[in-house]
Amino acid sequence: MNNRKRYNSLDNYFKNTFGEKIYKVSLDGGFTCPNRDGTLSTEGCIFCSESGSGDFGGSRKLSISEQINEQLKLIEKKFPSGKVIAYFQNFTNTYGNVEYLRKVYYEALAHPRVIGLAIATRPDCLEDNVIELLDEINNKYFLWIELGLQTINEKVAEVINRQYPLKTYEKAAEKLKKHSIKFVTHIIIGLPGEKEEDSLNTAIFSEKCGTWGIKLHLLHIIKNTELEKYYKANELKIQKKDEYVKKVVKILQNISYNIVIHRLTGDGNKDTLEAPLWSLNKRDVLNSIEKEMKMGNLYQGGTEI
Ligand code: SF4
Repeated sequence: MNNRKRYNSLDNYFKNTFGEKIYKVSLDGGFTCPNRDGTLSTEGCIFCSESGSGDFGGSRKLSISEQINEQLKLIEKKFPSGKVIAYFQNFTNTYGNVEYLRKVYYEALAHPRVIGLAIATRPDCLEDNVIELLDEINNKYFLWIELGLQTINEKVAEVINRQYPLKTYEKAAEKLKKHSIKFVTHIIIGLPGEKEEDSLNTAIFSEKCGTWGIKLHLLHIIKNTELEKYYKANELKIQKKDEYVKKVVKILQNISYNIVIHRLTGDGNKDTLEAPLWSLNKRDVLNSIEKEMKMGNLYQGGTEI
């Protein structure tokens, strides 16, 4: 009997690589974003929340080590002593003076429970001196970079105000690959104007570009975002749970089992989520994905081998 999991989750990867469970602690490194500070635009991506798409992280009023301790306290009961990855989540975490980046990254790495870093950024914010610093860290610690691609459909990218062309993602992927720095690609399913197979093609494309991991997000309409205005004005079609589940399963079937799946749906915050409200029951969404795969005897990368 084949005991292989249906998909290669991050949890799975951690257990196989480190032999134990590893948690992530989300940090706010005090960054902004060129798509928010006026360099590229002031509006940001239309789905981006006030906190720069990092709604469950630490507070920027605290130092990095204080934030790590605070986050560890929150998971103290279920995870009293294990190792963690420090995840720089809010806004664009390579957008700044390289000495500042060095300071905050190494402050996180100095914490006794931190074994590595995850750094979320834009592909147009990876200057050569930043890549040098990342390369240095990658040679000593566990590291991955997260790139917010969202879609390969250039028209949709304009609608969501991503503010960089696909070519920029390809170049960033090349740079990171050259230094053997792992990267994760964010893909949003259900963007305005997106075609049926866009998210699938985006996942396949990111694999071709060498992505190590994929983070799939359901399009969340968050209150007080540009997307909420768009939704109210244009009656953007909200996805049904079944449609979403089918798209996710199709993506999993069509990418290699080596790709690490960091996420299959988003973490909605009930106070700020406008729609779709079914996504608040994350367990139910994940169970539905598992059920769909089980029914068709489907696995990431195809059928059972
Ligand atoms: S790049 Fe990230 S932080 Fe910047 S506006 Fe887009 S989602 Fe928000």
